Amino acid sequence: MEANTQCPSCAAPNKSIVRDGTFHRADDAKVVQRFRCKACGKRFSTATFKPTYRQKKRRINSTIRFCFASNMCPRDIAEMVGVDIKTIASRLIWQASLSREKNRHYLRAYVQHNGPIQCVQFDDLITFEHTKCKPLSVPVAVIDGKRIPLIFGVAAIPAFGHLANIARKKYGKRPDESIELREELFQKLKAILPPDVMFKTDGHAHYARLIKRHFPDSEHQVFISDRGAIVGQGELKKTAFDNLFSINHTFATVRAKVNRLNRRTWCTTKKPKRLADHIDIFIDVFCDRLKLLNLSRQTLQRRAALSLVI
Ligand SMILES: [Zn+2]
Repeated sequence: MEANTQCPSCAAPNKSIVRDGTFHRADDAKVVQRFRCKACGKRFSTATFKPTYRQKKRRINSTIRFCFASNMCPRDIAEMVGVDIKTIASRLIWQASLSREKNRHYLRAYVQHNGPIQCVQFDDLITFEHTKCKPLSVPVAVIDGKRIPLIFGVAAIPAFGHLANIARKKYGKRPDESIELREELFQKLKAILPPDVMFKTDGHAHYARLIKRHFPDSEHQVFISDRGAIVGQGELKKTAFDNLFSINHTFATVRAKVNRLNRRTWCTTKKPKRLADHIDIFIDVFCDRLKLLNLSRQTLQRRAALSLVI
């Protein structure tokens, strides 16, 4: 038993808790220790404190996490691991909450190892929910040169271009939530970044206003965006040197690895919140793949406890 275990019902201290037999968990063939609280008489086990508490299929978690960041759709994952698609849908939400926590931890560890972040690239990824008439904007900030996503959000924006009129007629007026969201993200960035950080963005007018207001001491470099190299892949630029490579390449990766963000796919986002969950899982796996942190064994074990969870 862990040193500081309390009773989950009455919060009685360690000394009033006694061992109370074991049980065999069929799901992953483990013997689990049970305990009893002498103060209130309630029973619990080591499994009570795990994120996987009350899950019936623990073994599929690490596969699901990996598959969501490897361009697979929920239906394919369900078929592969042999569970219902509804299980995959609920595990997406569950894994995302763990991944979010892990991503925060990763960022803290990165700053501890490499010192304060000096340069950040910021841009919006455009996708949609259900139909192209209902676009979504995903503002993302990444570390320049490293491609580690710092922060992101998902906001509804009105349809633009030739779809603007059709969308208004069909679905009514769609609010622009992106301005409010970017404001919120910059508020959070203030806690992560030093005041003299450098920003690299495209010519979006709102970015300049935000940076000036929230980071008055920072330097802001603006690069006018080039045309995409391949039709339908706006992120990969034709020019020999792309000044916004870090953010553009991160967008290209997320489009390739997160199934619902693929170009010309029929797997679309139905709820903006689930898109955010999916991106959180992607960032979790992506940061592991980057292998930028030389973490100690203890830290890795702590992170494994968060993500792989048995
Ligand atoms: Zn108790």
